[in-house]
Amino acid sequence: MTVLDLLKKHFGYDQFRPLQAEIIASVLERRDTLVLMPTGGGKSLCYQLPALRFDGLTLVVSPLVALMKDQVDTLKANGIAAEFINSSLTYPELNNVRRRVQRNAVKILYVAPERLALPGFLDFLTELTVSLVAVDEAHCISMWGHEFRPDYRNLVTLRHALPGVPCIALTATATEQVRHDIAEQLEMTQPQDFLASFNRTNLTYSVRPKRNSVDALTDLLDEYRGESCIVYCFSRKSTQDLATTLCERGLSALPYHAGLNATVRSETQERFIRDEVPIIVATIAFGMGIDKPDVRLVVHYDLPKSLEGYYQETGRAGRDGLPSECALFYSYGDKVKQDFFIEQIEDPAEQRNARDQLARVIEFCDLQTCRRKYLLAYFGEDWQQDNCGGCDVCLTPREEFDATVIAQKILSAIVRTGERFGIAHLSQVLRGANTKRIRELRHDKLSVYGIVNDFSDSDIKELAGLLQAEGLLRKNNREYAGLSLTSAGRTFLKNREDLTLTRAKQAEPAPRTISDSDPAQVWRRRYTPPSIADEQGDLSVDTALFEKLRELRRKLAAERNVPPYVIFGDVTLRQMAAHFPQSRKSLSHISGVGAAKLERWGEAFLEVIRSYADEHGLAERPVPGTRHSREPQGSKVSQKSSTYTATKQLLEQGRSITEVAAERGLSLRTVVSHIEKLVTDGEDIDLGPLLPASDRLEAIQHALARSGATVLAPVKAMLGKDYTYEEIRLVRAFMHQSR
Ligand code: ADP
Ligand code: ZN
Repeated sequence: MTVLDLLKKHFGYDQFRPLQAEIIASVLERRDTLVLMPTGGGKSLCYQLPALRFDGLTLVVSPLVALMKDQVDTLKANGIAAEFINSSLTYPELNNVRRRVQRNAVKILYVAPERLALPGFLDFLTELTVSLVAVDEAHCISMWGHEFRPDYRNLVTLRHALPGVPCIALTATATEQVRHDIAEQLEMTQPQDFLASFNRTNLTYSVRPKRNSVDALTDLLDEYRGESCIVYCFSRKSTQDLATTLCERGLSALPYHAGLNATVRSETQERFIRDEVPIIVATIAFGMGIDKPDVRLVVHYDLPKSLEGYYQETGRAGRDGLPSECALFYSYGDKVKQDFFIEQIEDPAEQRNARDQLARVIEFCDLQTCRRKYLLAYFGEDWQQDNCGGCDVCLTPREEFDATVIAQKILSAIVRTGERFGIAHLSQVLRGANTKRIRELRHDKLSVYGIVNDFSDSDIKELAGLLQAEGLLRKNNREYAGLSLTSAGRTFLKNREDLTLTRAKQAEPAPRTISDSDPAQVWRRRYTPPSIADEQGDLSVDTALFEKLRELRRKLAAERNVPPYVIFGDVTLRQMAAHFPQSRKSLSHISGVGAAKLERWGEAFLEVIRSYADEHGLAERPVPGTRHSREPQGSKVSQKSSTYTATKQLLEQGRSITEVAAERGLSLRTVVSHIEKLVTDGEDIDLGPLLPASDRLEAIQHALARSGATVLAPVKAMLGKDYTYEEIRLVRAFMHQSR
């Protein structure tokens, strides 16, 4: 069996995510391997799949004891013999696991690091055939990291006890220094180093004004009704208050913070994982030990303390790759509040650090340019795209405008006031405010006083951000907001150069009045999150069926006392609710349906789908792009085959897709879906003349390979507005054909 066959058989997936194939190849060559991949990147598979190939045991060291059971349950659901050993087992249970391991009846064994120090445990291990050691959350071994765990030092002893056994270390958080440290501490020999992009293509980022924020939050949560959401707050008290408020407004929310007693905390966590409570309002204490793949929305209701924290917390959204949203509420008042807390820090170095971190967060909030690009740059990744299509800045329609005059005015004001004032003051000067401070500073006597009357205060602040992004001005230092000119700014002023900038498209006169009363509302209208239907090409999910399938999933999970996602993930249920598979064969083409799950739960899900399809007169829709799809010709399918044949014949006569569409009275999208179907059915279609020009073709192939996507929205986001879904799908079919 090839690794791809193993992937389909045991996990039900058709494709690898970026780097998974390369990492697995390295492990299978028995090389020490170091993996840095963001949350949701699919790290587990990198050792779970090789484990199936190796003769002996794969030992997984993981610090998250609370997660082990869920991970093992997930593997078992896929028909993989896995067990765990940690302090939660009773003595008889422990013995039972040990015996099964000794009998070679277990492929993957999870252990907590402290076990490795217990007398006898290493002896137990050395008597087994261990093929691979996997170290999860590997940054815990480094003192340079922020989550150092002394227990992880036991791993060196383990390495010594198992000489020649290759090791794979995985982490989502590591600087270069920590990475180096991991390899050294684990005594890796010439480790293969894999570094995935930290771009989470399925996440949308937005920063929203924190005004009428409870209303805005309620509206936002309302859009995600029934889905899992996390709302992060700064203080314990506010988590309680906000959860109460949300409940009063008819939403189902629970608070979570470190001050609650342990039983309440684990109960809350459990109820969230089991889809019994959709919304958790929490301090950042929540989330560490949670692997829930289908969190659809993460809200920062208060400012995060650092961008690292922000990235990590938002990273808990959308691990399963489906579109998910990250919203941050920001007000200047919150910044002032944070400043106050920072003032209280006694250690000067710590205080400076906290202030610096906050400044970066504020800079992020104030951005007039792509937030994704900024985040990635913060982590040292140079992301070369102007429009990510997945942040509020990029999604807000923009327009060009001549900024020459206003830029000159702002820059002059900076120079005239001595290059030490912030934009709030400069704006007052420019707009001729009559304040005591301005009079005292005699800024009302300057030539720039009151020379702007066609821009509002917030316009001027936004413009300053744009001028900073253009490199014409800069903040003097992170702590204070004083602005000065860069040398480019001086040249610009001296030479009276022209300047064209782009900014958010100005609202029409009518909405403008609403904008004063409710800015959140206008913003919402301007910003439409990418819809699910759009994101999976023409995958239109039948939501009523999806809900029925979720219900069944919840029931099966409760019976087995496992989290619902162990049964099937949202991706799988969505595909079922879009393709209506009605035979075991077609069900097996759905992503996430492996052999074991098909055997165990196939009939139960088919029954629901069949009866729903009957009731609503729905036929199966083929799953495009599956490696294994050679559809049995059911009567419903064969009726349709003539339409495919008609498309095929026209193409064979050398018509273009547009011509076929016109001739047959179909949309481009439909014609492309015919082509996909023909290709997956193994029909001989010459795609050559239909493909885009070679540079575009390459760009699309690259994007598809990088995202490893069955889901097209991330690919589209990567490529930008210039590319169409039709082109992308054609190229995907082409890649399928050339496999
Ligand atoms: P990480 O540990 O890197 O955060 P996980 O290993 O938990 O990520 O994987 C995240 C999610 O992605 C899981 O739900 C997993 O089943 C899914 N996944 C992993 N690899 C693939 C793949 N090749 N195709 C589809 N889904 C995948
Ligand atoms: Zn963007």
